[in-house]
Amino acid sequence: MDPPRRELAPEQGKTRDGRWDRVEELPSRERILPPSAGKGQGGIPSRWCSKPAFPKAEDAKRGRLEGRVLEFHSEWCVVQIGPETLRCRPRGKMRTLGPLYKLAVGDFVRVETGASGEGRILEILPRRNEIARRSLGRHRSAQVIAVNVDQMVIVGSAASPPWWPGLIDRYLVAAAGSSLSPVICINKIDLDASGESVRHTEEYQALGYHVLRLSALTREGLESMRERLKGTTSVLVGQSGVGKSSLLNSLEPGLDLRTGEISGATERGRHVTSGARLLALSGGGFVADTPGVRSFVPFQIGPNDVLAGYPEIARAAAGCRFPDCRHAQEPGCAVLEAVHDGEILTRRYRSFRSILTGGIE
Ligand code: GDP
Ligand code: ZN
Repeated sequence: MDPPRRELAPEQGKTRDGRWDRVEELPSRERILPPSAGKGQGGIPSRWCSKPAFPKAEDAKRGRLEGRVLEFHSEWCVVQIGPETLRCRPRGKMRTLGPLYKLAVGDFVRVETGASGEGRILEILPRRNEIARRSLGRHRSAQVIAVNVDQMVIVGSAASPPWWPGLIDRYLVAAAGSSLSPVICINKIDLDASGESVRHTEEYQALGYHVLRLSALTREGLESMRERLKGTTSVLVGQSGVGKSSLLNSLEPGLDLRTGEISGATERGRHVTSGARLLALSGGGFVADTPGVRSFVPFQIGPNDVLAGYPEIARAAAGCRFPDCRHAQEPGCAVLEAVHDGEILTRRYRSFRSILTGGIE
């Protein structure tokens, strides 16, 4: 016989402190697509993908080089080649696809330098991955906003706006779905007089995640963040107002990113950054600074994708009686049993279920 189950918190409706409806604060159009969804829509046509080649002697003679796209504008883009940046245009054939139609921030490209001082992009090298969102246009196709990304830096704040673990969990699912390694940052620890953020830190550390405790204001933890960004390409994600721009400004004062004050009445931050670019950090590493990627939430995800963001639930789920167990109320559900026994946090279980049922906690 199954052990009696403790009544779990409801999955629908508001949380105790009335924060359930805060998903409304996230712009619904800025949603990440699973990696496969970008293919054939926002993905680049395969004819532009070729194997990365070592520059042949002849290429080197003709000034052909490999570089990385940092910024793109309507007609040209900025490509980093070694320590230099070069303004480049796509070659004629690529232009027939539309102006820089298929290039994305983070692309590795082969470039030919000419006498004009401008470069020509000859081809886009194969991408490791793509981060896409729904296009804002009528066709709602996928729009690739950053490519060749390694790491998702998930930023939350200890206070103002309040810590929102349900959203952190969502990003963990998104990171797993896009094969990005997640790092959780708790910013504004200078505002945490009660020390509550230590509990949040421990909660995620116990699950095996890497957590950084930061203050863009007092600069606490910034060196560990710098270390973490070194040698990788990261996207910074998190609710507006948690201090993503402030953290980057504190790390790299030359960036001078605009930051937004939080309105006292709603504690909602404003969106203040525009444009898409890859920031090259002086300490090494790149950060994709793309507004669309900052507040995305994953969608079109199945139960197995969600489990990837909940390693403790995935482990327990291996013991469920039915292989297609939804971990809701099935008999012999090892997940419910682990929640009952306190091995899985009720909060995490609720956030897991809310993603499965299309909500957010
Ligand atoms: P973003 O929307 O995530 O980029 O957030 P911003 O960087 O624009 O920061 C939002 C607000 O929080 C600004 O008023 C910042 O001055 C403030 N802020 C950012 N980081 C910290 C911090 O570590 N401590 C405190 N007290 N305030 C911060
Ligand atoms: Zn189950």
